[in-house]
Amino acid sequence: MTRTAIVTGASRGLGLALARELAGRGWRLVIDARDLPAVPVELASAEVVALSGDVSAAAHRRSLVAAAGERIDLLVNNASELGPTPLPALADYPLAALERVYRVNVLAPLALAQLALPLMPPGGRILNISSDAAVEAYEGWGGYGSSKAALDQLANVLAAENPTLRVYSVDPGDMRTRMQQDAFPGEDISDRPLPEESVPGLLELIDGDLPSGRYAARSLAGAAR
Ligand code: NAP
Repeated sequence: MTRTAIVTGASRGLGLALARELAGRGWRLVIDARDLPAVPVELASAEVVALSGDVSAAAHRRSLVAAAGERIDLLVNNASELGPTPLPALADYPLAALERVYRVNVLAPLALAQLALPLMPPGGRILNISSDAAVEAYEGWGGYGSSKAALDQLANVLAAENPTLRVYSVDPGDMRTRMQQDAFPGEDISDRPLPEESVPGLLELIDGDLPSGRYAARSLAGAAR
């Protein structure tokens, strides 16, 4: 049976790299980004529904789930908001901007999970893309990092409340993407691995048998294969 996944934020970066792999493995995909007028060329040969929209908008979230159909095997909460740059110290953090970070990084993934849960079969998976900033005290990363910490704990409790599913938080590691460049404006980020290097670890969580929990993508066994 064809499996269906929703992958948010799949127009570039990690989301697109994962979508490309899933499409190659025969998954049916529903993907989004705020600016996604068409299916990315890399995915053109696959069964993909591409929706432009912001995960923080309830109507857009309903469209994503409706496009998935009657069954959702996998929800990947990947779309994320970094917040203002240069990254402000918490003492100066504009609270309206912090609200936006939490709306995109915490409330939207939970809201999508709430819509998806009734459609997920036993063994279905939710992957929340987290960050080392959720657990490390990097200066300037308090807004984004605390949102990812909240996302981790949502996954933790969702896993306890839904024992027939696997619910994962996964830290992809630093990656050479637009978000990384935005976080380090003007810096050379060419030493960061491409997002493709984090995908094997995600696939290990999607296709393997690991218990629900928090993982680092590039430390998983699949990542070394
Ligand atoms: P990226 O290259 O900037 O891609 C982000 C994707 O999400 C884009 O497709 C973007 O498209 C979409 N997006 C952003 N905000 C959205 C919204 N509100 N609604 C819908 N789509 C939205 O970022 P990335 O580095 O691949 O990040 C992927 C994940 O990895 C994120 O969860 C991030 O927090 C995490 N992460 C990244 C790093 C890193 O070093 N890059 C490290 C740790 C964790 P639009 O702009 O068109 O919406």
